[in-house]
Amino acid sequence: MNLRAHVLLTALMLTSPLMAAPLESGKIPPVASITAGTWLKGDLHLHSRHSKDSTNNPLSKIIGFAQNAGFDYLAITDHDNHVQGDVMHHTWADPEFKSKSVILLHGAEWTTERGHGNIFSAGPYDHQRLFDVRDDRDVKIIAVKKALGVHLSANHPSGKDHFGFSYDLVDSIEVWNSAVWPKNAAAIMIWDDMLKSGRKLTGRGGSDSHHGVPDTPAETSLHSIESTANYVGTPTTWVFAKARSAQSVIDALTNGRVSVSANPNDPRVELYADLNQDGLMDMMMGDNANAPSNPVTFVVRLVGGGIPGASYHVRVVKNGDAFGAYDTNPSTNSVSFTDIPAATARTYYRVEVDGPQTPYPQVPNSMALSGNMVALSNPIYFNFDPDF
Ligand SMILES: [Zn+2]
Ligand SMILES: [Zn+2]
Repeated sequence: MNLRAHVLLTALMLTSPLMAAPLESGKIPPVASITAGTWLKGDLHLHSRHSKDSTNNPLSKIIGFAQNAGFDYLAITDHDNHVQGDVMHHTWADPEFKSKSVILLHGAEWTTERGHGNIFSAGPYDHQRLFDVRDDRDVKIIAVKKALGVHLSANHPSGKDHFGFSYDLVDSIEVWNSAVWPKNAAAIMIWDDMLKSGRKLTGRGGSDSHHGVPDTPAETSLHSIESTANYVGTPTTWVFAKARSAQSVIDALTNGRVSVSANPNDPRVELYADLNQDGLMDMMMGDNANAPSNPVTFVVRLVGGGIPGASYHVRVVKNGDAFGAYDTNPSTNSVSFTDIPAATARTYYRVEVDGPQTPYPQVPNSMALSGNMVALSNPIYFNFDPDF
């Protein structure tokens, strides 16, 4: 690049927060197949009796509930500080930590003075090492995380116990914590800020439920009422996994092929893009591509569940700002929109879906807490630097 072009580019970079130097062609890897895989539903933030602030919630109750409700995977994430980091000899060693039909991730809630994060792993790992560096500098924590090869996710990033570490540590962020949707507004704002900064950061859900339904009236605790309002699947996180395995769940989570629904009976939102105007979809949420020079058609699909015949309201967010709002066609449960992403800047598009809440009789009081918020997608990205 000559000096004049370089100066011009530098000036452009200073005037727009999302302006990035054009990426070398071929730097962004090709998009993976958008059809070879399977949608799996689960909950990525659950506390069992191995957390001291949990009541009436043995692993068998959580896993049995998930099996009956048809969930595909769970991450039981007990507070590591309640067992001094020794998750291996508590949650994972519990004879009830097993299921024939539900994939159980290994993990814990990394519970530190500077905030909480969930660890997800396809198998056992040395959690004690992460616990032991919890008060160290970020650079040391990153090194341990990399050595362990685990996925770290920022929990409930705003408010009490907000995530006070660098977002360079994390692979995803909990943008939807518990059935109480309205309290997540600040988390969504933080997510958009991180996305605008060039991070390709997956948004996920987690019920953070602690309390099970008491087996007898005598076991009722002050918190037992919560079990009727917030339990497995409020919200439900969907991942498009290459295979039905723990590693594929985590890979999909890392890659952002993820959407979140208020409960498992609500529709799943899927966001696709047609890059070359041939009517066929070329990429889905979580995917990153070089921006084409022609208009891109986006398709939002609501799949499964939901209220038959209902119209849902889709809000499109582009680079953190409202881009448009559209009602789905009740006969196809889909809607499309078109835009031209900037040629040399980063651009992302994500959607949020409002509408009638589908009943979830197993957690009957969750509907009212979620209000009209039905689902959200991860972004489709253009010109994001894969080496950020
Ligand atoms: Zn927490
Ligand atoms: Zn928690």
